[in-house]
Amino acid sequence: MNLPDKTHWFTEICEEHGSAISFRIRRRLHEEKTDYQHIEIYETTDFGNLMVIDGFIMLTSRDNFLYHEMMSHPALFTHPDPERVVIIGGGDCGTLREVLKHKGVKHALQVEIDERVTRLSEHYFPELCESNRDPRTEFLFGDGIQWMKDAEPGSVDIIIVDSTDPIGPAEGLFTEDFYRSCYRVLGDTGLIVQQSESPLLHYDSIIRPMHSAMQAAGFSHTHTLPFPQPCYPSGWWSATLAGKQDVTTFRDGDAENPGFTTQYYTRNIHQGALAMPAFFLKSHSG
Ligand code: SAM
Repeated sequence: MNLPDKTHWFTEICEEHGSAISFRIRRRLHEEKTDYQHIEIYETTDFGNLMVIDGFIMLTSRDNFLYHEMMSHPALFTHPDPERVVIIGGGDCGTLREVLKHKGVKHALQVEIDERVTRLSEHYFPELCESNRDPRTEFLFGDGIQWMKDAEPGSVDIIIVDSTDPIGPAEGLFTEDFYRSCYRVLGDTGLIVQQSESPLLHYDSIIRPMHSAMQAAGFSHTHTLPFPQPCYPSGWWSATLAGKQDVTTFRDGDAENPGFTTQYYTRNIHQGALAMPAFFLKSHSG
């Protein structure tokens, strides 16, 4: 077997699914244990900088645009007039940057439990943080679950749950209780979008239960949009939308001419992502 020299590679092993993903690295730029998690930053040879939390790859400079654009633009173009956006997690600020590209957004609040993720992103991923000083931005460093419990009913148009995997502090973000809080906080046309892991690896364990929990919390419309994401297990990831109204139609004219640039998202990518793989059909209400 011709295995690469392990000292020059960062590898995330996905023991449960018998697979792994590796990046060739030049050096480790930073490592720290915060009150919440273990954060590492590496410089890779071909993917720019790499952020790892608790051994799990969060993002690379080179391919994060896929995830951040699909976590924001489909939801923002589905809502008729999104003005008030709340991001739960999202500490690297890539989703926030995409949200603020929408001129109609008046207020974007990011509730991130670990301030160190944001401070390290400002240093090692400055391009993702270029809108952090936008006057519409507000940062709150605290628990998103508690924030949602305390928030005013009907006070938010879009909730984006840009969290780590459903373990540790993020576990409660994947529960019916949390979705009930979201339902209460959203207005009648409000919607939630949540990162929902790999369609290939986590369909039965995460995506289907997420639909059931969102529906049990009152959301009559749920839909999962798959998209490529090379740095995550299986290279195929997803965002799940839940709304009080249909989430499969969107402002396609605005999406066609958004008035800002993207690297992946287009009107047709959005339309295409709404098409369901055959194995999805059993649990979607569309
Ligand atoms: N794109 C990444 C992925 O899917 O691997 C996730 C990006 S972002 C770095 C995830 C963030 O969620 C982390 O910074 C973590 O601190 C935050 N987080 C986890 N649980 C949270 C909670 N209960 N409230 C607020 N933020 C939370």
